[in-house]
Amino acid sequence: MVIDLRSDTVTRPTAAMKAAMMAAPLGDDVFGDDPTVNALQQKAADLFGMEAGLFFPTGTMSNQVAIKTHTQPGDEIIVEASSHTYLLESGGMAFHSGCSVRPVQGDRGRLRPEQVLANVNMRNDHHPITRLVVIENTCNRGGGSFYSLEQMQAVSDAARKAGLWIHLDGARIFNALVELDLAPQRLGPLFDSISFCLSKGLGCPAGTVLLGSTEFILKAKRYRKLFGGTMRQSGILAAAGIYALDHHVQRLRDDHRRARHIGEALQRQSWVRTIWPVDTNIILFELAESLSATTLVRYLASQNILCVATGPQQVRMVTHLDITDDMVTHVVEALEAFKPVAA
Ligand SMILES: *Cc1c(COP(=O)(O)O)cnc(C)c1O
Repeated sequence: MVIDLRSDTVTRPTAAMKAAMMAAPLGDDVFGDDPTVNALQQKAADLFGMEAGLFFPTGTMSNQVAIKTHTQPGDEIIVEASSHTYLLESGGMAFHSGCSVRPVQGDRGRLRPEQVLANVNMRNDHHPITRLVVIENTCNRGGGSFYSLEQMQAVSDAARKAGLWIHLDGARIFNALVELDLAPQRLGPLFDSISFCLSKGLGCPAGTVLLGSTEFILKAKRYRKLFGGTMRQSGILAAAGIYALDHHVQRLRDDHRRARHIGEALQRQSWVRTIWPVDTNIILFELAESLSATTLVRYLASQNILCVATGPQQVRMVTHLDITDDMVTHVVEALEAFKPVAA
């Protein structure tokens, strides 16, 4: 048995999810007549209080199409310096949208409203035109940190005061929503577009939904085609998404509880220098001086536990649908048993 804590993307569809996929009515979504894709898009839009939705193969494409739809070449985008859209999408904002980027160092991935306002360029012939703010919730590189509703509201107010569009990269937004005990409908009014992944904690094999106004989604649909992301009988994937929205949201609390449990065990180890607060399902920690991340990752692999080195001395673990309490017990035992050899 392998305990795979590398990411919440490694989950396999459950038997019930597969049954929902096999039973889904399908059509050709290029003609707009896959009933399951249409149902997912409508369901997601209603859930977040937005007008329309669009199904994508990946979160990267959904984010990049949203950015393309909001901007013109030569515009500038304000992002947090460690954000996925900036750091982990292969420079897509420059490549696809021809935009310059203003990376701003936030607090564990979170931007404050005054940072948004302070980074808006003056309108003249010299500066790029600041057009868009992208925030991420939960923050991947922030170790699963999240914005509260009030913090999202404040950043949204700042963006709108400055005349900017605001996009939410909500790849793991449901992890934040369950921690905040917040209905997704509260988010619709705060953002011009929202992207959320079905392929992360929600446990689907693939898929992301982009939400926005009817007009925005109509424009985005053309860019999805241009980016090569328009699919055919994609209802088979959308069915997994509908199933996950109905059955896999509330259980994210279990992932968070298990992550905290692993975090507490790490806290007790002398070879752990610092552990970031475990706010959701991501555990991020730094190792004491003599220990390299690859040494720990290799030891854990020998115990059938997989995780990733996110820096020379930083390691990440992520809990998800396929991690059980028994697995967590095994992980804790393996951590307790680890005896680093002094360098
Ligand atoms: C995973 C992720 C995405 C999208 O990733 P894909 O692998 O392209 O689906 C976007 N933003 C964040 C914060 C993510 O963690």
